Amino acid sequence: MPNDGLATFMGRDWVPDLDTLGEREPDVAVVGAPFDISTTYRPGARFGPRALRALAYNPGTYHLDLGVEIFDWIDLVDAGDAECPHGQTERSHRNIEAKVGDVVGRGIFPVVIGGDHSITWPAATAVARRHGWGQVGLVHFDAHADTADTLEGNLASHGTPMRRLIESGAVRGRNFVQIGLRGYWPPADVFAWMREQQMTWHLMHELWERGVGPVLADAVAKASDGCEAIYLSVDIDVLDPGTAPGTGTPEPGGMSAADLLRAVRMVALETPIVALDVVEVSPPYDHADITVNNAHRVILEVLAALAHRKRTARTAS
Ligand code: MN
Ligand code: MN
Repeated sequence: MPNDGLATFMGRDWVPDLDTLGEREPDVAVVGAPFDISTTYRPGARFGPRALRALAYNPGTYHLDLGVEIFDWIDLVDAGDAECPHGQTERSHRNIEAKVGDVVGRGIFPVVIGGDHSITWPAATAVARRHGWGQVGLVHFDAHADTADTLEGNLASHGTPMRRLIESGAVRGRNFVQIGLRGYWPPADVFAWMREQQMTWHLMHELWERGVGPVLADAVAKASDGCEAIYLSVDIDVLDPGTAPGTGTPEPGGMSAADLLRAVRMVALETPIVALDVVEVSPPYDHADITVNNAHRVILEVLAALAHRKRTARTAS
């Protein structure tokens, strides 16, 4: 894999132009969302998209467990970034929603790279407009629920996007499943609201007690129950800070990389997944590109699962 030349995602073609994207009709398009002014603690996630393109170690493209050569089955292009002008949340979010909308509107699977978690609000909104308003379920890996009403008066905080998506009706609560929550936030009244929305959450404690496999089987069943489209959102702080130091709000006691990668693969193989985002990678706090490489491999798991599914469908027909 290229370690020279222009830093596109995995060295794939750079196709920021919409007309060219429409002509090529790739299966997957990477969209960067370099926005981090909604963070509540350490900033830096605006550099996430660039780091995932430039710093991730690209080992090869054959997924050993699934036995699939990813790019034999998936045409992936790098569609560039949504413009996120500094200090301007509304404009940035509008641009993210438009760019993701342009991708899904052409029947292309978007891989959105954050940015802080606030970008899931516009990104999943765009996906819901395409795949059915209120018909989209959401599988959400995170240390945090991100369902606060406001944070310091900010409706568009990285701690509030999941609230906005349910309030607007874009995503339905009963197909909204969270995995990996732990620590000391949010408070009880927020969990009461989540209960009213029929949301499901699996704490780290439950993963520890029951094991990752059984919990993920429940999560996959719940998210896809009566649902035709799933949006997968991975906040890299779901990982233990020892495995993901490069993030804005590190919470000790998180998932291992092996567990997260296997869990993400399971979601991508067993739900009607239509979109992915990976957020909160903050390279300035990273060490030895640990966080960047973990986030990169989360994306590869989904790509490999999509390749596997396409191969299976092709073989069956
Ligand atoms: Mn989050
Ligand atoms: Mn988080």
